[in-house]
Parts: sequence; C-alpha cells; structure tokens
Amino acid sequence: MDGPGLRYPQEDFIVKLVQSDRLHQLFRQSVLAVFGSLLAVAMLCWLCWDRFDHQVVGVWIALLTASSLVRICMFVAYFRSPDRERTPQRWERIYWITLILSAGIWGGGALAVIPADDLLAQTLVMLFCVGMSVSAVSCYSAYRYMTVVSIVLVLLPCTLWLLFQPSSLQVGMGVAVMVFASFVFSATRSLSDALETAFRLTREMEHAHSLSTRAAQTDELTGLKNRRAFFEEAQQLFGSCRKNQRPLCAVMLDMDHFKHINDTHGHQVGDQVLRQMGLVISTSFRDTDVYGRLGGEEFAVLLPDTSIDVARHIAEELLHSLAGLMSGPVHRISASVGVAAISSDDHDLHSLMNNADKALYRAKARGRNQVAVAE
Ligand code: GH3
Ligand code: MG
Ligand code: MG
Repeated sequence: MDGPGLRYPQEDFIVKLVQSDRLHQLFRQSVLAVFGSLLAVAMLCWLCWDRFDHQVVGVWIALLTASSLVRICMFVAYFRSPDRERTPQRWERIYWITLILSAGIWGGGALAVIPADDLLAQTLVMLFCVGMSVSAVSCYSAYRYMTVVSIVLVLLPCTLWLLFQPSSLQVGMGVAVMVFASFVFSATRSLSDALETAFRLTREMEHAHSLSTRAAQTDELTGLKNRRAFFEEAQQLFGSCRKNQRPLCAVMLDMDHFKHINDTHGHQVGDQVLRQMGLVISTSFRDTDVYGRLGGEEFAVLLPDTSIDVARHIAEELLHSLAGLMSGPVHRISASVGVAAISSDDHDLHSLMNNADKALYRAKARGRNQVAVAE
C-alpha cells in the first residue's frame, strides 16, 4: 500500500486538468450573470421608482454598469484566449476582483437605496437580494468560496441594517434571510464537491482510456507499434499514396540467426537485442514513415514519397547502424532486408508487403546481412 502522502505524476496531471475544468465551468456558467445583475437592478428601480432617491439610483446603476463592462471585457479575453492560457493562475485572481467589485456594488447599492420608512420597498429590496444570492449558487457552483463571498456581499449590508431596526417585522425579516443563507451555504459545499468529483472521474476515465488504447497499439518489448497498429496505419498510408499517386516503398527486416543468439546467450540477451533494434528503428525514420514490429524478430517500415533507390540506401544505412550495435556478449548483429516499391499492380497493401517479403527471402538466400530489392 502507498503511504498517504505518495502521489503519482499522473495524479498531479489530473488535478491540473480538473482545476481548468472548474475554471471553464465558472466562466461558462456565469457569463449571463453579468446581464442578470444589471437586469435585476433595473427591475427593482423601476418597481420602486417613486420610493427610491433618484440620485442614489443613478450612481448605483452607473457603478454597476462600469463593473459589468469590466467583467464583460474579462469574459471576452478569456473566451478568446487559447486553451493552454486558460489556467487558474492566470484567471482566478482577476475573476475574484471583478466578483467582489460587482457583488459589493450590488449589496452596497441596495443598502444605499433602501428607504428607512417604507416597509414594502424594504421587502422588495430584500426579495431581490435573496434572488441574487440564489443565482450566485447556480453561477459559481464550481467555486464554493465565490458563492459564499458573493452571497455575503449582496445580502449582509441590508440584512445587518434590518437587524438593527426598531420594528420586530424588520428584525424578523433579517433573521429569516440569515437562516435562509445558512442553508444555502451548506448546499454550496455538496454542490461544489459533486462537481469536482464529476470532473475528476471524467478526466480519470479519459486518461485510463488513452492509456489502454496506447497499450493495445504498442509492442511492449520495443515500444514500437505492434502488428495490428502497424497494419492499421500502413493501410491508411497505402490508400492515400495510391489515391494521390505518390511514391511508396515497403521495407521488411528479419534479424539473422536470431535463434542462435537466444540459444547461445539466453532469451534475455535476445530481448535486449530486440530493444536496441527498436531504438535504432525509432531514431532512424521520419515522423511521416510508418514502422513497427510485426512479431518475433521481424520489423517493417513504409516510406512515403520515397523512390526505390532512396529506400534501398536507407535500408543499407540501417544495416550499417545495426552492425555497430553491441548488446552485452553479442558482438555481431545483422539482419536481412527486402525492399519493394508500390506499382500499378499493387491493389492492396498486402501485395506490396508480399513483394518486400519475397525480396527479404532472396536476401536471406544470398547469404544474409544484405538488402534485396523486389524485381
Ligand atoms: P534467419 O537468419 O533464417 O532468420 O534465422 P533466425 O534464427 O533468425 O530465424 P527463425 O525464424 O528460425 O528464428 C527466429 C527466432 O526469434 C525464434 C525465436 O526464439 C526468436 N524470437 C521470437 N520472438 C522473440 C522475442 O520476443 N524475444 C526473443 N529473445 N527471441 C524471440
Ligand atoms: Mg523470422
Ligand atoms: Mg530471423
């Protein structure tokens, strides 16, 4: 069992992905809140137009519009930025600043307009403040503390004011709002935890899926593509080259007297030679070439946009690199190679590979450690 503090590198990688998922969720969910908060103020002021001080209303709406413009600029900048720049380090702080600014203006403005002697207007203001808090839960659910802070900033000024009023009705309203807020606070924790779990499970599943896909396509010993993955990719490359009349060459390689290496030095040394072979192949070819281990000590490469002469030269270079390899007690490593170019008779990949295979057996027959070109 691992100790509690031990973490695998992929856990950090998943934690980072979950963090950016939360951030993205925050931005996506809250973009409409900017307009919602302006709309709420406009409706409240319209309903209570005769009951509010018009000058205070003017200042409130102006400040809120200014803070909303800042938020809109931030949203535009975020959604236009490339994925790799959408990191919590870059965006969380600015989001917090704009959130505190606009929630503070909302709560402070509500306190400034609330009339001291008009119970109906006070009730309406509280109704809108409570409505704003509920929308904060739906907008900032990915970040619990953002929900809590915005609710506190919107509700607290008016609620505190009500609690210090002489009428028991006003105090009662203040207490009711506080009780309501405490329920909302506890709900925000479960909501943000559930969201985080959902993001984490999704990312872990994606990661497991990509690992298993890679494992199913990779030859464990050499790290090259396995037979199935090689033929899948080779098939696509063959189709594309045939369709666009691009040159294509196939190279088949089989190690010489490999059984002898195993018999003399043991299977483990044989495996080591195959690993080195994989390394030589993976460093010798272009990204556009397709190469893999077909099985045992046989390897294959497809070289697009390559003439038969160049392919033969590349194969000879490969044999040269092999001759320089030394694997423990094994001092002479060689292979035989067959090379074939696509022709109008090759209607499928297997006919091209067959030609390369026949050439390979000619190379064996001629004494091994050499390249033969298909006739
Ligand atoms: P030739 O020059 O005619 O190709 O002779 P060869 O001995 O290489 O040919 P053969 O096909 O008779 O033998 C291939 C050997 O490769 C047999 C098998 O034991 C060995 N082999 C196949 N897969 C592996 C592997 O994964 N690891 C090791 N160590 N040996 C393997
Ligand atoms: Mg063989
Ligand atoms: Mg062999």
